[in-house]
Amino acid sequence: MNGWETIIGLEIHAQLSTESKIFCGCSTRFGDEPNANTCPVCLGLPGALPVLNRRVVELGARAALALGLHVNSQSIFSRKNYFYPDLPKGYQISQYDKPFSANGELEIMTADRDEAGHPVEWRAKKIAITRLHLEEDAGKNVHEGLPDVDRYSYIDLNRAGTPLAEIVTEPDFRSSWEAYDYVNHVRRALQWVGASEADMEKGNLRCEANVSVRKIGDEKFGTKVELKNLNSVRFMQRAIEFEITRQIGVLEAGGRLHQETRLWDERAGETRVMRSKEEAHDYRYFPEPDLPPLNVSAEFVAGVRAAMPELPEARRRRFMEQYGLSFSDASQLTSEKSLADYYEQAVEAAGDARVTANWIRSELLRELETAGLLAEESPVAPGELGALVRAINDGKISGSQGKDVLVEMFKSGKSAATIIEERGLVQVSDSGEIDALIDQVLSANEQQVKSYREGKEGLFGFFVGQVMKASKGKANPKVVNERLKAKLS
Ligand SMILES: [Zn+2]
Repeated sequence: MNGWETIIGLEIHAQLSTESKIFCGCSTRFGDEPNANTCPVCLGLPGALPVLNRRVVELGARAALALGLHVNSQSIFSRKNYFYPDLPKGYQISQYDKPFSANGELEIMTADRDEAGHPVEWRAKKIAITRLHLEEDAGKNVHEGLPDVDRYSYIDLNRAGTPLAEIVTEPDFRSSWEAYDYVNHVRRALQWVGASEADMEKGNLRCEANVSVRKIGDEKFGTKVELKNLNSVRFMQRAIEFEITRQIGVLEAGGRLHQETRLWDERAGETRVMRSKEEAHDYRYFPEPDLPPLNVSAEFVAGVRAAMPELPEARRRRFMEQYGLSFSDASQLTSEKSLADYYEQAVEAAGDARVTANWIRSELLRELETAGLLAEESPVAPGELGALVRAINDGKISGSQGKDVLVEMFKSGKSAATIIEERGLVQVSDSGEIDALIDQVLSANEQQVKSYREGKEGLFGFFVGQVMKASKGKANPKVVNERLKAKLS
């Protein structure tokens, strides 16, 4: 790596969470029978006319605003012409020279990672966003799981016409971890505002990376390689890392790199050539004659903005200021919207923001992770976790008792109070009640009281023991100590 610099640019395709397709009323439901959700428009039959789905514009605006981008008052749909069996029209309706949004800037938090993959030091980095545009997805060629696949390929057009937002960055990333942190930032932002499910494993967020290397100090970019088949953010990071090492290795050995597309093979842990790109495609873009220009008013954008929840970065900063949380606590608690909501409801019930943050991070998240659940699916309601934290803070039960209670709450769905009661865990802290027990013990042990008062202070432990016994172990030891001292002096 010494003396080399890495240059990475990213393209993300995010499926917008609409119920129907971008230019027709067909369902976008996943997993239906092949070609069930099709019509003349998305089959590309002659004479069929596209009509823009208003919800796509709303969600596209949400996506843009969630990434800090503006929405252009006018954008133009264009035909991107190419031939492929899963594209029945022979062109994809996309946007070209007048996209939905352009020339934005997104600030992300990023960190280098140590050997074990832990973040070293978080810092802010600005990424230039070239464009965010709206387009339709193509269909799918199916080569597996059907009869005679050795002789036939099948085409499923259910996905044809599904709305996508394509987000393209400038080549601003200098390491695989910066790319990793960016994609996670975008995923979380899109999920947060409900623009996209943004799940890479399900394929509703797809990512391509353009990777090249150059000698530090060089002005000119090196030959870039396009990486595809990146099915998770971690795979993408590993693929980029592999590619950096491979490219430097080729160049240092005096070899030449080729402009090509390579696929990541997770099992083999390497990238492989998919196709070489001798020259740029000529898509012969031209404005889509069947769709008018898309005009988006300032009022429309303002309405979309007003309906959006507080964004993750803003919420993280607020958590740090309002609740006095560290960056790492606040970041983790705002990693998912449902977790952030959970935390705030729990704090309200607990009355202690930092202790609640600790309990969620150390205890609750472990239980959730083991059970494979999200915060919103937790069998322990936020108010109940808050009640447990309050019981510990008030000295009703100890912290270690609290951990057992939480495990039981998680398993049984019972409230903290019920379990504390059932297990007889309640500490008696009421000084009146404890005074009565002390009086009992002292009058039953007059001889010892006399000895104590004459200087046998070692007997104090004996009295504490007797009071605790009389309370069946439920008295708060701290209060017993205080009251006993007062009574005996
Ligand atoms: Zn259709």
